[in-house]
Amino acid sequence: MIPIANPIIGKEEDQAVLEVLRSGIIAQGPKVEEFEKNFADYCNTKYAVAVNSGTAALHLALMAMDIKEGDEVITTPFSFIASANCILYVKAKPIFADIDEKTFNISPKSIIEKITNKTKAIIPVHLYGQPCDMKSIMEIAEEYHLMILEDACQAHGADFNNKKVGSFGDASAFSFYPTKNMTTSEGGMITTNNKEIAEKAKIFRNHGQIKRYEHEFLGYNLRMTDISAAIGIEQLKKLDKFNQKRIENAKYLSGKLKNIKEIEVPYVQSNVKHVFHQYTVKIENGKRDEINKSLNEAGIGTGIHYPIPINDQPFYKKMGYNANETPVAKETAKKVLSLPIHPSVTRENLDYIAEKLKEILK
Ligand SMILES: *Cc1c(COP(=O)(O)O)cnc(C)c1O
Repeated sequence: MIPIANPIIGKEEDQAVLEVLRSGIIAQGPKVEEFEKNFADYCNTKYAVAVNSGTAALHLALMAMDIKEGDEVITTPFSFIASANCILYVKAKPIFADIDEKTFNISPKSIIEKITNKTKAIIPVHLYGQPCDMKSIMEIAEEYHLMILEDACQAHGADFNNKKVGSFGDASAFSFYPTKNMTTSEGGMITTNNKEIAEKAKIFRNHGQIKRYEHEFLGYNLRMTDISAAIGIEQLKKLDKFNQKRIENAKYLSGKLKNIKEIEVPYVQSNVKHVFHQYTVKIENGKRDEINKSLNEAGIGTGIHYPIPINDQPFYKKMGYNANETPVAKETAKKVLSLPIHPSVTRENLDYIAEKLKEILK
């Protein structure tokens, strides 16, 4: 079986975790601080705040940005559900803009159509590791006085016009879940250049505590452990190498698949570094689910990211949403299929995937 994802943990991570376990400081401590500093340096931001998941990073960032009841936040329905749920956590209202059919990312034109006098922020999601059109999105934010929270949970190390994702928005959120481009087991990070947002995020992640047992705000326990941070410090050193392998694998597979008429290979914008968290093709003959099943039977792990747009999820429907308001996202959800290209996938694996696909489509 070629799995769709495979975290790579080496002896460096083993050693780092063991050192933390022996140190006696196993919850949030000096390793978290070191990881935050290294991650902020990597993203070229002034601050980074570590938390225990990407979802927590999104939630905490919105709290620190003071998004609240009565506010509207525009995001994409074509993402993992956390991209929109975080808006509900702070009692604000998610508004869904449609996507660009080539990049799968939120469409700036659609964002403009959804802006009202209640709109406070936009959450662009760099889906599959390809940066959104941040030039247009930053221009919209400036013109309409909106805040930006980048959902960079799939895009560690990606860049747009040579500027790293995670450094555009008022704040950004990363996830270190095991399937992502780097991992800490569970884990997440907020990056920001805004001192106030960083400070608030640190207070809210720790029960709104300003002094020991003095709680000024309603906060949560969203802290990262030093065990996770120790893994993250080692993974961050390897991230560029991991991403390079993903990019090479994606390029190789696209070369093999590009002449198959039923398959549309991923489109990469010329001014970005796409880090291929997922390698996602569109199946144009309406038989995505059958092809998916045949690939699995041939020992090829796949993923459908995502089969149901967020605005078509059962509990969003109950709130009155539906995917007819975002027709491109609705259509795209029926066509997408992710194939394995992560760093442990070999050339032979990729040859096999291409060969099987051709055979299945015959
Ligand atoms: C993984 C992911 C998240 C959530 O991260 P967790 O660490 O699983 O909480 C949020 N948004 C996107 C786009 C993701 O891919």
